[in-house]
Amino acid sequence: MDNLNPNDLSAIVEADRAHIWHHLLPHKQFETTDPRIIVEGKGMRVWDQNGKEHLDGVSGGVWTVNVGYGRVEIADAVHAQLVKMNYFAQTAGSIPGSQFAEKLISKMPGLTRVYYANSGSEANEKAFKMVRQISARHHGGKKYKILYRHRDYHGTTIACLSAGGQEQRNAQYGPFTPGFVAVPHCLEYRAHEQGLAGDDYGVRAADAIEEVILREGPDTIGALCLEPVTAGGGVIVPPKGYWERVQEICTKYDILLHIDEVVCGVGRTGTWFGYQHYGVKPDFVTMAKGVASGYAAISCCVTSERVFEMFKDDPTDPLHFFRDISTFGGCTSGPAAALANIKIIEDEGLLENTTRMGEYMLDQLAALQEKHAVIGHVRGKGLFLGAELVADRTTKEPADEKKVQAVVADCMQQGVIIGATNRSVPGYNNTLCFSPALISTKDDLNQIADAVDKALTRVFG
Ligand code: PMP
Repeated sequence: MDNLNPNDLSAIVEADRAHIWHHLLPHKQFETTDPRIIVEGKGMRVWDQNGKEHLDGVSGGVWTVNVGYGRVEIADAVHAQLVKMNYFAQTAGSIPGSQFAEKLISKMPGLTRVYYANSGSEANEKAFKMVRQISARHHGGKKYKILYRHRDYHGTTIACLSAGGQEQRNAQYGPFTPGFVAVPHCLEYRAHEQGLAGDDYGVRAADAIEEVILREGPDTIGALCLEPVTAGGGVIVPPKGYWERVQEICTKYDILLHIDEVVCGVGRTGTWFGYQHYGVKPDFVTMAKGVASGYAAISCCVTSERVFEMFKDDPTDPLHFFRDISTFGGCTSGPAAALANIKIIEDEGLLENTTRMGEYMLDQLAALQEKHAVIGHVRGKGLFLGAELVADRTTKEPADEKKVQAVVADCMQQGVIIGATNRSVPGYNNTLCFSPALISTKDDLNQIADAVDKALTRVFG
């Protein structure tokens, strides 16, 4: 049988309907509607199988295509590298592997080692395994627990789900990995639900972590794993004083700090990494999505030299090195793409653009909030923003999920792709999400705000 003709888009759609198992979607809808095929992308825009143009307000759906579509320089870098040398296991190094590691480390003072992997989940798993091995080797196996936070997400594998603060997402996938312990979230807008509303919320939200540590026993806690700004759990920008107190607590109890930068990493919030807004000193930083803007699969678990030193060979213990391998982790296309990606961010001043455009978009959302009572709260850092929809501004009861989805669908009709927080998590699936590429202009952001304005009027009146 011949290959499907790539220009025969109705055949492509039918093959999709027959054979593709889409991520995160109920499939019944495809009995009556066509699956969406994204055929082409350029800059901030993508085109579907019907030739319809969409402004992408979410960088590839999930905060990924930071430098935009159609970047020939990244494709060229990957092509040149693949022709020269496509693959050898990470037991050996590679030219782009070294080049990108050196570049990355220059953006992360205090950290020194890059462990390559393929996905955000996998990078987080590496950090979890390192924590467990440090416990086994240096703490008699006692300091094995890993703290994670309500509403944070760290990935799709069973261990990552065990560290997942969106419990409903886990339903039907248990039993889970033992040794992961939850701490409370830090969304100030919903502090009243935690009984923590009032001054100094940031410090008190962090103190709530210390309470869990004391309850569990500080000598049993190996690491604390947090998103710098929580993504799918509600675009949660940490409150004032939070990170300073978190750092103090980690230092006090000798707890390693693992920051999950899978969404925030490589420019999304206007700094290279989200944690760099808050002056904290992580022991592990994991990253994926924006590292190569989706031009190749790559993730990294970056560590301090202190962590690396704990794995130095020991001639008396032949098992003491990090006994981990990922076949495709560090595949040369990944670091080659990542190096070209970071060069674009530097050459085009995209961090500065992200900060400027992020402030502009926050103003646009604040203006929409004045007009639409359904917007309870707007928040964001750089080009990573959210608008939380509520049925009632006083009680802050979340808006009806179906209506939130109707707003997203209405924007899609208008040719603007926006997102909403995780649909599978009742109670906090009510935040519209915006994460346009770091190349966004005011015109792009006006188009997004205008579509949201019209959609809110149509759906909520
Ligand atoms: N961490 C965070 C904060 C994420 O948002 C995600 C993905 N949405 C992951 C980890 C998992 O990344 P991946 O899907 O690449 O495994």
